[in-house]
Amino acid sequence: LMGSEFVNAPDRDFAVAAEREKLAAGLAEVRTCFGQTYWPVVGGKARRGLPTLSVPNPAEPGTVLGALGLADAELADEAVKVAHTAWLSWSKTTPEARARLLGRLAELMEQQRSALTAWIVYETGKPWRESDADVSEAIDFCRYYGRQILKLTAQAQHRDVPGETNGYHYRSRGVAAVIAPWNFPLAILTGMTTAALATGNTVIMKPAEQSSIVAAQLMRLCEQAGFAAGVVNYLPGRGEVVGAKLVAHPQVHLIAFTGSLAVGQRILAEASMVRPGQRHLKRVIAELGGKNAIIVDSDADLDQAVVGVVQSAFGYSGQKCSACSRLIVLEGIYDVFIERLVQATRSLIVGNPAQPATYTGPVIARDACERIRGVIEDAKGRHRLVLEVDVSHLGEGYFIGPTIFADVDPQSSLAQEEIFGPVLAVIKARDFEHAIEIANGTSFALTGGLFSRSPRHIAEARERFEVGNLYINRKITAALVDRQPFGGFRLSGVGSKAGGPDYLLQFVEPVTVTENI
Ligand code: NAP
Repeated sequence: LMGSEFVNAPDRDFAVAAEREKLAAGLAEVRTCFGQTYWPVVGGKARRGLPTLSVPNPAEPGTVLGALGLADAELADEAVKVAHTAWLSWSKTTPEARARLLGRLAELMEQQRSALTAWIVYETGKPWRESDADVSEAIDFCRYYGRQILKLTAQAQHRDVPGETNGYHYRSRGVAAVIAPWNFPLAILTGMTTAALATGNTVIMKPAEQSSIVAAQLMRLCEQAGFAAGVVNYLPGRGEVVGAKLVAHPQVHLIAFTGSLAVGQRILAEASMVRPGQRHLKRVIAELGGKNAIIVDSDADLDQAVVGVVQSAFGYSGQKCSACSRLIVLEGIYDVFIERLVQATRSLIVGNPAQPATYTGPVIARDACERIRGVIEDAKGRHRLVLEVDVSHLGEGYFIGPTIFADVDPQSSLAQEEIFGPVLAVIKARDFEHAIEIANGTSFALTGGLFSRSPRHIAEARERFEVGNLYINRKITAALVDRQPFGGFRLSGVGSKAGGPDYLLQFVEPVTVTENI
């Protein structure tokens, strides 16, 4: 596991007919599974008989994919107790044994890649290539954290002096509540879950409502991989009910959350309280939103910049925390760049993500669609609309055409608040200095990008562009595990980078043992 360099799982190449056929077969196979109910799994048992929630396909809401059995606060309470009991033995397993199980989980994901990808396409409206990449990233997390726990254990320090031995090692914390968003339905949930498992904690997965069928697939794979009952539990349900109960529970030690700033803030506040029966302070990892900018310098390679901006802004309909939602263009090339950007964006294929040619699918849900449409309508009265791709022919699905506003005031709400949809605000900068100032002028600090040929400007951006992940002359999305550890600071979150060397340290308690001999 540790001998060689870490290698990222390769994505499928859909230019190859055989690869396309495999996913087409997966999509057809998964279609035959529509209509099932996904019950919570606690202590290895499906918990039936709860109220259910129907899950639509966002591209064709008339198609029901299945139903979720909604856990309630009582079941959340039981899940914590079960996970705590499981932790008593799981925490005693060796890092090698845990890494082996994670390796097995990765293998199963590889074997069932087509079906997993198909579920992501159907449930979250994500197009083929990006759904496939979601699976690759999940596989990477299993293998990467498996290796990292072995590394951490091997590196534990010993500093012995005559008459005294000193050992330094890591203990697990206990029960981890993993509360995940829907936008990387497999990857993010798998990442937080495998980090907790690798470090000897037990897990209660609370997936987002909009991606709980994909999460049920992960639960099934964990069972197949051989994790003992209660080590991983699956608790679909309402965030305000089940999520809130887990956060407040005195026996939960660790909360790994990825999602919005609003929910993250609330979790941080709730988790800070010590409740009756609680003998520890909770650790919260909270990866939150962004308002990410790309700067296009006056000497940039515009062909490269156009492609990079289009992919960053409109890939998965702008529903990535890393997506570009502010584009800062230098005065000298402003008009020309907007013209080319509009042309390129107009050529994107918007449609059903189950079709291989689709570049931009629907947004996640009806309420998100209405909210984003509201933002666009409001912005029309305030900013110059330069493109709104017509999607009226696409029928019932939650489609929003890629939309671009120009001459946007950097202080306006369009340029300050996360929209999480295919809406791009273009801002004009007088010079490079001004561009950097605008880029840094929000409360978030997640991703950012620069297209430039100037070594001086590139050096300056490295130094002064305040983001967790800076990308130079490429798109600002699609970070790879190990190669681009991911995460931000300021209001973009608290915690060390996912897929990076320090991530697991948040899931353990370091202990020093000194013996006088
Ligand atoms: P969200 O609304 O904050 O929901 C995230 C999770 O929190 C869901 O499982 C949700 O459950 C749960 N939840 C809701 N209310 C809760 C409460 N009171 N207590 C505990 N849990 C609660 O976010 P989202 O819409 O799923 O995801 C989009 C957001 O995630 C964006 O802001 C994006 O930038 C951010 N994001 C950040 C990163 C990163 O790495 N920094 C990565 C991906 C996404 P329900 O679904 O049942 O409401």
